[in-house]
Amino acid sequence: MGAINIRVGAKVDMHIIIGLHTVADIYCGDCGELLGWKYERAYEASQKYKEGKFILKKAKIAKENW
Ligand SMILES: [Zn+2]
Repeated sequence: MGAINIRVGAKVDMHIIIGLHTVADIYCGDCGELLGWKYERAYEASQKYKEGKFILKKAKIAKENW
């Protein structure tokens, strides 16, 4: 994918086992394909490191500093 164009969808609060997170789906800016999600906010101190990270469904990797 490289330097891709992404669009970020609506923020959604998710209660997952490790605590409340606010996430947003991310889409390819070119074709609109759902790529994964972004952690907008983590509420548990131990999960704060996730904030701003993108999780890609296909590659199953988390990228920082896009
Ligand atoms: Zn695309």
